[in-house]
Amino acid sequence: MDENMREVISDLKSYLQYLKGMGITSLPVSENISEKVIRPEILTLADVRKELGDCKRCKLHQTRRTIVFGEGNERATLMFIGEGPGYDEDVQGRPFVGKAGQLLTKIIESINLPREDVYIANIIKCRPPQNRNPEPDEIESCNPFLMKQIRVIQPKIICALGAFAAQTLLKTDTKITALRGKFFELEGIKVIPTYHPAFLLRNPERKREVWEDMKKIAEWLNNAQRKGHSA
Ligand code: SF4
Repeated sequence: MDENMREVISDLKSYLQYLKGMGITSLPVSENISEKVIRPEILTLADVRKELGDCKRCKLHQTRRTIVFGEGNERATLMFIGEGPGYDEDVQGRPFVGKAGQLLTKIIESINLPREDVYIANIIKCRPPQNRNPEPDEIESCNPFLMKQIRVIQPKIICALGAFAAQTLLKTDTKITALRGKFFELEGIKVIPTYHPAFLLRNPERKREVWEDMKKIAEWLNNAQRKGHSA
């Protein structure tokens, strides 16, 4: 446990003892208070972005033009995670804006969600030279920031786009053909892998499987919403 957390717990203990002395034995805890107590250092995406700064934590900073942090709804129930920025993303500083990005927008809209309602990020935030696969040391440096984004957003479900994102998030080397369309968990959040839109551009005959995966996501979200409303 770090020093900050020790201090927070000690302050909280003293405050609760004070309240007990006043005869108060229970109190309502709002979502914001509990967030501040449990995760004092990561309250918003802006905090995570600030902490990332002009990141030079891995060698990809030498060749990137822009850091592609991620974009979308900070309170999204559905989050998409791809591999890393390509040429267009590196130029514009936004995730999934090239041809594959346009296809991703259509995929999102296929379940009646506007793109602005979801959150889109990548395993790594800087474009690898010649779009090569990210290397283990680069993932290790970048991953803590993606995890912080996930913890801030707290989506109900994450759709991992492509083999690389799925295998990295789920820490497995199982092939994407075996992973896609199945539900997994990451820190209590559902994860469903599907094919990467760039793969679909090269293999349009696989689009049907992605539509099926999207239907599963929509169905799962509807059920979760129904349960939430009836709770
Ligand atoms: S890839 Fe991630 S860790 Fe590496 S320089 Fe970019 S933001 Fe930093």
